Amino acid sequence: MTERLANHVCGRWQTGSGAGTALTDPVLGTELVRVDATGLDLAAAFAYARHTGGAALRALSYVQRAGLLEAALKVMQGQRDAYYEIATANSGTVKNDSAIDIDGGLFTLGQYAKMGLTLGDRHHLLDGEAVRLGKDPLFQSRHVLLPSRGVALFINAFNFPAWGLWEKAAPALLSGVPVIIKPATATAWLTQRMVKDVIDAGVLPPGALSVICGSSNGLLDQLQPFDLLSFTGSAETAELIRSHPAVTRHSVRVNIEADSLNSAWLLPGASAESVDLLVKEVAREMTVKSGQKCTAIRRVLVPEAQAGQIAEAISARLAKTTVGNPRNESVRMGALVSRAQLNSVREGLALLKQQAHVLHDGAAHALVDADPAVACCVGPTLLGLKDAAASDAADRVHTHEVFGPVATLVPYRDAQHALELIRRGQGSLVASLYGQDEAALTSAALELADSHGRVHIISPDVAAIQTGHGNVMPQSLHGGPGRAGGGEELGGLRALNFYHRRAAVQASTAVLDRLAPPAAA
Ligand code: NAP
Repeated sequence: MTERLANHVCGRWQTGSGAGTALTDPVLGTELVRVDATGLDLAAAFAYARHTGGAALRALSYVQRAGLLEAALKVMQGQRDAYYEIATANSGTVKNDSAIDIDGGLFTLGQYAKMGLTLGDRHHLLDGEAVRLGKDPLFQSRHVLLPSRGVALFINAFNFPAWGLWEKAAPALLSGVPVIIKPATATAWLTQRMVKDVIDAGVLPPGALSVICGSSNGLLDQLQPFDLLSFTGSAETAELIRSHPAVTRHSVRVNIEADSLNSAWLLPGASAESVDLLVKEVAREMTVKSGQKCTAIRRVLVPEAQAGQIAEAISARLAKTTVGNPRNESVRMGALVSRAQLNSVREGLALLKQQAHVLHDGAAHALVDADPAVACCVGPTLLGLKDAAASDAADRVHTHEVFGPVATLVPYRDAQHALELIRRGQGSLVASLYGQDEAALTSAALELADSHGRVHIISPDVAAIQTGHGNVMPQSLHGGPGRAGGGEELGGLRALNFYHRRAAVQASTAVLDRLAPPAAA
């Protein structure tokens, strides 16, 4: 049997008492390590994090906590090679795709370390100015923000074991809230290894960061008032989490990042250069991390008359994608994370194909250095709806997320029609717009901003510097309304709101003046 990864709870490394669940290499099919949380005293784990970790973090100022993030970052920067090895073995990703997760996570942590320095040597934040409550200016109201006196439980998805940890943990720890992370079982190894490196280096106070690998059984039962729950994963699991009795009974604040049918929209009248930018971005987004990105482009909205030409251009790019073993230098796209995901992608494709036709068939890609009977690899598939009328008739492209290298071309009649079709996604994480008419781009962005967490505009002037449709930058909001889960993460210092409680203090002006902390260093 392979090694069982230890959990870190109550300030100690503890191995579960069961046989555990095996994590496998999705390309070679071999067992790598096991995870198990059987027999852990979860009540003690949560109490230790909540009380010991919470008290230690709250005793520090924002600047001091920013220092903790910086120290954790330094520890992990020295271990990048080990992280890449784990990602290749456990996620089946090529180097560039592993970088999005690993270096993306470290970058995000570093950004919060920097942002924390701007908050000063203080222990609470102010929200807005004091306002009068009546005619007399002597009695006023001012809002304060204090770190929540609970623990933040993170339940994460399999596709970002590194970034998913730090994009949540950085703002939580900076806020002064201890963290318990439960990574998705399939790829828990990288999360566990990063936590282990940081804990073993002794750079965080005891109880500030815990990791529980394996089953989620019993975790939500531990939640109490003032605890926080941040979930990333499928809409089905999100529904269970939202309605969990401990969540509803204790009004636990919940953030949900769920699945999403993100769009790329080529605006009417787009130049040849803009068409080219759309084609490149779609092909890239379909193949990065084998399409296992919650922000990946799933629906490509194009003017009806240009659909044929665009289908050919995207297909030509996809045809060049070499798929297979990420250890082979010639391979550009690695594996899906597991056989279950491969089956789910095949089933999803079959469902979409009942309403769309195949423009580029991923099944035709020969695998490089990988046995098709074992490896969870699949080539990229571009589907298409025949014309604008077919776009009206088809519903699955707007409702079914295939979590793999799959996108569908959706022809539209005019801008109004495109907007209607995009809105049929019921709320998404991101939409990207392609064109060169600044007025049209601005008005399209404002039309879509209420149903998207982010609108990403790729005009020719920013072609070389734009950060990518699917890349989540810590400076910008991540999350989306409706089926995307209704959550909000990142967005710079806005992320700290989730981990703070806001209260109004009503008092004399002299008392309120004392709330104002010293100016930032
Ligand atoms: P999932 O099956 O919903 O699992 C997500 C997490 O929930 C895992 O840690 C899983 O643990 C845990 N879980 C499963 N059942 C649970 C329960 N009853 N109670 C508590 N926790 C439970 O999702 P996934 O397959 O890992 O991730 C893929 C999905 O995530 C896609 O739909 C994708 O769009 C979405 N996603 C969204 C974002 C975003 O930011 N919006 C980012 C990444 C992914 P186990 O692994 O142990 O089962």
